[in-house]
Amino acid sequence: MGAIVAIVGRPNVGKSTLFNRMIQRREAIVDAVSGVTRDRHYGKSDWNGKEFSLIDTGGYVLGSDDVFEQQIDKQVELAIEEADALIFMVDVETGITGMDEDVAKLLRRVNKPVFLAVNKVDNAKRAEDAVEFYGLGLGEYYPLSSINGSGTGELLDALVAVLPENEEEESDLPRFAVVGRPNAGKSSFINALIGKERYIVTDIAGTTRDSIDTKYNLFGFEFNLVDTAGIRRKAKVKENLEFYSVMRSVRAIEHSDVCLILLDASRGFDGQVANIFWLAHRNNKGIVILVNKWDLVKDKETNTMKHFTQKIKEAIEPFTDVPILFISVLNKQRIYKAIETAVEVYKNRSKKIVTRKFNDIMLPIIESNPPPAYKGKYVKIKFCTQLPTPYPQFAFFCNLPQYVREPYKRFLENKLRENFDFTGVPITIFMRKK
Ligand code: GDP
Ligand code: GDP
Repeated sequence: MGAIVAIVGRPNVGKSTLFNRMIQRREAIVDAVSGVTRDRHYGKSDWNGKEFSLIDTGGYVLGSDDVFEQQIDKQVELAIEEADALIFMVDVETGITGMDEDVAKLLRRVNKPVFLAVNKVDNAKRAEDAVEFYGLGLGEYYPLSSINGSGTGELLDALVAVLPENEEEESDLPRFAVVGRPNAGKSSFINALIGKERYIVTDIAGTTRDSIDTKYNLFGFEFNLVDTAGIRRKAKVKENLEFYSVMRSVRAIEHSDVCLILLDASRGFDGQVANIFWLAHRNNKGIVILVNKWDLVKDKETNTMKHFTQKIKEAIEPFTDVPILFISVLNKQRIYKAIETAVEVYKNRSKKIVTRKFNDIMLPIIESNPPPAYKGKYVKIKFCTQLPTPYPQFAFFCNLPQYVREPYKRFLENKLRENFDFTGVPITIFMRKK
């Protein structure tokens, strides 16, 4: 699992500028690989080999100016609860404002690492002005310029020093996370599974985080259901459910092996669901799509499911090898099937293909469909193997790895999927020099 870092602060201090700088290099790579549009407010970053998720909370502020203040407080509270570390950004141009003081007040009570970033320190004169931010009572600050990058290295050094080591989850039991938009039926689904009202909505502030995994034995399957504290806080955050659900999804997804993405059939696979889907994909998690509330879809014909499936597949191109089930939590329809499918996806994700067999199947395919010549050069793929990673990654060794283009890699992935069952699991293909 990776740590989660949230950037908080009032509007216009430069949060999204810093956010973009921090995720830029990585995201550029990811985009080139998957050709996927991304959520602008959530990304992965790394520094000195330490990887973390970054959330720009400013991206979720909605509404008019007069509700800003209240919303920002709320977002800071949520960020405090869900993040492992916080970057509090202020602006040296404007100096300390009342809103900064409010946020600082919230942050002073927190026992998580808080980094005060004084932004727009573009020159030496402004570096002197920055000292006033000691006045916020948060101790040391990091003067920086998000625009030109100066000072950001120092902030990142300090930040990653306090983050937990990246350790890929070593669990003997599958970890399932139930994610989706608000009201998709996630709590109902979980309650239907475990047969009692487990989530009790109370309003106790400041309770420490619950344990993250809860072990279940259902229908003969043993698994952990990933959960974080917070569903009980639902009542408190009506105004900003979407932001809240993104924060929760990020954490739940990071802790899982397989994500069960629930959506409301009457609302369809919309942009928010797509964001959650790509979040899971980007984290290399197994995915099962559960179209819930199927009972609400009226006048179903033989082709209704097929059309629905097609629509979803268009939205998740090119990663379409994903199970899509139509369920009704209300009628307890196909709930067993959902868990069974999640278990299969889990197995696919941890599947290891014997190198010999892999070569026996893939090399003849490559032989008859070699990579097209690029800049007059011919690529010869000699050998391939699955890498010893917790999720499926494959290396193809060849003379000129840099000349193998994206479409050919996609061709390899398709062939791989045709010959080995990796349904529901993102695959990464590397071309390596040999
Ligand atoms: P957010 O609302 O906190 O996400 O702020 P933005 O990232 O959108 O930035 C607000 C404005 O401040 C934009 O016009 C940025 O170009 C500008 N800005 C951001 N970082 C810096 C900086 O380091 N120096 C200067 N001079 N301007 C900056
Ligand atoms: P969550 O926000 O994703 O946890 O969603 P909830 O579990 O709170 O469900 C939201 C609403 O959808 C509740 O009123 C549920 O009773 C309703 N609901 C959940 N599953 C189904 C279903 O399969 N069919 C119908 N008709 N309603 C459902």
